[in-house]
Amino acid sequence: MSGHPSQAAVALPVPGCTEPRVTQERGQRAVFCGLTSIIWLHRKIQDAFFLVVGSRTCAHLIQSAAGVMIFAEPRFATAVLQDRDLAGIADCNDELDRVVAQVIERRPEIKTIFLVSSCPSEVIKLDLANAAQRLGGHYAGRVRFAEYSGSGIETTFTQGEDSCLKGLVADLPKAPADRRSLLIVGTLPDIVEDQFSRLFGELGVGPVHFLPARSSTDLVAVGPDTSFLLAQPYLGETARALLKRGARAISAPFPLGAEGTREWLRAAANAWDVAPERFEQVIAAPLARAERAVARQREALRGKRISFLPDSQLEIPLARFLQRECGMQLLEVGTPYLDQQMSAAELPLLPGGVRITEGQDLDRQLDRVRADRPDLTVCGLGIANPLEAEGLRTKWSIELMFTPIQGFDQAGDLAELFTRPLNRQNRLGF
Ligand code: SF4
Repeated sequence: MSGHPSQAAVALPVPGCTEPRVTQERGQRAVFCGLTSIIWLHRKIQDAFFLVVGSRTCAHLIQSAAGVMIFAEPRFATAVLQDRDLAGIADCNDELDRVVAQVIERRPEIKTIFLVSSCPSEVIKLDLANAAQRLGGHYAGRVRFAEYSGSGIETTFTQGEDSCLKGLVADLPKAPADRRSLLIVGTLPDIVEDQFSRLFGELGVGPVHFLPARSSTDLVAVGPDTSFLLAQPYLGETARALLKRGARAISAPFPLGAEGTREWLRAAANAWDVAPERFEQVIAAPLARAERAVARQREALRGKRISFLPDSQLEIPLARFLQRECGMQLLEVGTPYLDQQMSAAELPLLPGGVRITEGQDLDRQLDRVRADRPDLTVCGLGIANPLEAEGLRTKWSIELMFTPIQGFDQAGDLAELFTRPLNRQNRLGF
């Protein structure tokens, strides 16, 4: 959890015909830190180890976040900084070297070790970039080292992935000119990645690569003939790093829901000059399946009022899906950060005048939730229980990070994630 002092709210106009109004709030925040993203990054990159350099609090956070999943052999650990380290008496690098040696000896399958900095390591200015370079030299040919920040200082939990992928972009080799390719950016469950690969193949779009890839040594080359499409909305820094490498961005809504997935695929198909008839033909069957699956959930969701508290940065595309495809009424869409460049294709799809808040001022937001009494509030874990105790139904936004929700075949499941708490309410007779 992190927080900082309250400041005045500022209203910013958003360009576009529907003109949703964005209010910025700066106050007490209640969000997990970037270390949380290790859970889904580690599930995706199957030969990587994540070594957090942090305190016992960091170790507890990662253990409890991972506690919702069962691992035979977790590929993450914490090199715990002691009081002597924090006071500058001991050399933290000794502890780091000891843990790294242990990991390398016990886990021969590990090909990359990510050194992940935390609030304590950043406060004492431990230079992990230097440590990664030193260890990389020492273990050259055996294990690669990378580093990124997972700290909770002024961040939210999905930024951990942005920071990790931005670091990976710097290590990608340069692609020769005239080698055209599509790079899908953002962690997707393997099952979703396979579905998208099939569809791109049928459309004749490609070759397609994914960042992150399943193997940390699979480093795709990037250059001016690389076009990239974001699969997640919270990857602004990664996108800017790719732009600096000369890659070209394809702007699209995110692949959530039948409509979002169709438009996301269409943007790639247009960039590859796929004939419209071929596009419609390829997507017809999975699109129809997705629309039927969403329609089965729409009955329970139509007309229900929903508020989002800022947490995952998925709020804008989720709100678009729930309003346009499920008929829900948006009361407030709060998001920790609103990157207008990354959301350029999403914002015009929200209804005009919808209340969007960027940042957080927890008490004021909770006051508005209590005044609105939405049928459903999407929020962080720590806020859900108190709201439930007040008779308000909630949905944990972090659950959406651990569930396959992108693509046609997951559109019905995505809608169902929101019907479940409402159905529970009906069963309990609230
Ligand atoms: S990185 Fe910071 S916010 Fe995250 S668990 Fe460690 S101390 Fe807490």
